[in-house]
Amino acid sequence: MKTDFESLKDLHQYYAVHNTCKLKTVATQPVYEIEPPSSGILFIGEAPGRNEDQQGRPFVGAAGKFLDELLQTIDLTRDQVYVTNVVKYRPPNNRDPNEEEKKDCRVWLNSELLFIKPKVIVTLGRHALERFIPDAKISTDHGQDFTHPTGIPVFAMYHPAAALYNPNLKDTMKEDFKKFKDFLKTIETKTKREKKKKEAIDEILDM
Ligand code: URA
Repeated sequence: MKTDFESLKDLHQYYAVHNTCKLKTVATQPVYEIEPPSSGILFIGEAPGRNEDQQGRPFVGAAGKFLDELLQTIDLTRDQVYVTNVVKYRPPNNRDPNEEEKKDCRVWLNSELLFIKPKVIVTLGRHALERFIPDAKISTDHGQDFTHPTGIPVFAMYHPAAALYNPNLKDTMKEDFKKFKDFLKTIETKTKREKKKKEAIDEILDM
């Protein structure tokens, strides 16, 4: 796996050529963001829809607008986070991506993770959740945090598009975002504690 990218733009341009996803023959273009997140928070959706396919940017349609609204409820803006998808090309008629398509985009997403080194991954919907926590179920595990074997925390959310089809889920998602905000505080406290511990050890080593 190639890892020596200077920027996310380089990374995406490389994988746009070096990937075997068959959807690239039917999609308009690959969909990605090129700015790393100042917050260290990485959101992962399923696959681009029609608007994303046309604009080449993730979550720019109705689901994206709702995602922006949810971010606002926890005092975050879209440009502070990074948003990507399990599959980088739009499946025809917005059907679910299949196993082969998900597998063919796996190394691309892995490469993004390696480049960004996120503080936390937020999965949007079941495809992203299953990719990181295979035994989890979105219906029972949304609003909860997990730890990926790499040590990266993973927070499970419903997909914002699900709340557009089923408005009852809107409040559930708002609640889950509140829980996510609390979870972020626990990560920050843990990081500060670990930093202090490291500083204390460094001081001892300097004695
Ligand atoms: N739904 C997704 O999963 N991803 C997008 O980029 C847009 C809608």
